[in-house]
Amino acid sequence: MDKNFQEEITQIIKFKPPLYKQRHQFVKDLVEKYKPKKVADLGCADCSLLRMLKFCSCIEVLAGLDICANVMQEKMHTLSPLPVDYLQPSERSLTVTLHHGSVAHKDPCMLGFDLVTCIELIEHLEEPELKKFPEVVFGFMAPSIVVISTPNSEFNPLLPGVMLYRHPDHKFEWNQAQFQSWALETARCYDYSVEFTGVGHPPTGMEKAGFCTQIGVFIRKYPQTGGSVQSEKPTEAVYKTVFKAVYPSLKDEKYLQNAVISEVIFTAQIIKHRLMSKHKEYGDDPERKSKFQPSMDCFSDYLGKLVVEKNMEPFVSGNEVYIPLATIFSFPKVNRLCGTFEKLCKLIAGKVTLSSDGSAVIFNIEHENEEN
Ligand code: SAH
Repeated sequence: MDKNFQEEITQIIKFKPPLYKQRHQFVKDLVEKYKPKKVADLGCADCSLLRMLKFCSCIEVLAGLDICANVMQEKMHTLSPLPVDYLQPSERSLTVTLHHGSVAHKDPCMLGFDLVTCIELIEHLEEPELKKFPEVVFGFMAPSIVVISTPNSEFNPLLPGVMLYRHPDHKFEWNQAQFQSWALETARCYDYSVEFTGVGHPPTGMEKAGFCTQIGVFIRKYPQTGGSVQSEKPTEAVYKTVFKAVYPSLKDEKYLQNAVISEVIFTAQIIKHRLMSKHKEYGDDPERKSKFQPSMDCFSDYLGKLVVEKNMEPFVSGNEVYIPLATIFSFPKVNRLCGTFEKLCKLIAGKVTLSSDGSAVIFNIEHENEEN
């Protein structure tokens, strides 16, 4: 290739965002499209893809596998829950696990996944490992979707400084025909369909080179027949688990209870505040009091509609304010958290001060009266 032309091309071939980010974004888009619950990333390296995927709210189980424990462990702490995850537990459950092992070996911890990603992995496999790879991933793990990305060697002449392979650890780099024939044969063998795409567009006029990173998206043709398939699979564990994080979730009764108690107290405080300001405004004048209508500004708009119903009206008696639980339960967030009124009662029992019949939250306003 003419040197000036090569230089010109080199100017053009600067991927924005960088290619690795485009590959990860590709996986994220796929997750958003298919909404898998369980995702495994094979050859996860520094866990950067897993770190991105943990924010996809459909995912409940995330697993990483790599043959190099050091590279995984370097940043694995970044997969741990943050303080904010404890302060505001998510509605979904999420478990993140990292395993040390090879994609050439079967381990039962890799069963039951919906999506398996192999991003820039296969070109790192020695020939015997590559031979075993399809049986492990497609035959044994058999997820609904497999994504495999690998360098497209036809693009290499367009990349600055690439002599043989793009990385010294690559054992091979395939052109488009080589990757596609391997992928089609693998898909045929294990009853998958495969579609080819990629990231990193070639420059105008050089479309024949194809994408810089070639990608195969494999979709399993037939659903797995649950139990029978599982029981045929070996159960001996060969991978070593090096990291496991269980995120706080509202599916866990302990976190749900905390969230419900906070929300109930918060809601009751707001209702009380509205009631007290009205109480102060109208004082004890029965005539003025009878004209009491909850004000219709933002929050009170909602409350106003509720108090029309009997037994749902908050009231003051002596030094105590009574906020009916039924009113609190009608608020969308409390309602969504608890699901049923019975569950609300169960979760706050003994944790929030209630009236003797248990139908209302009580606040003592003695000191508030004194202050005023
Ligand atoms: N998937 C990552 C990095 C790919 S680099 C990303 O998208 O950025 C390839 C990774 O595969 C390396 O971390 C390497 O340690 C790992 N690897 C190589 N051979 C493997 C094998 N047989 N089993 C599992 N992982 C392997």
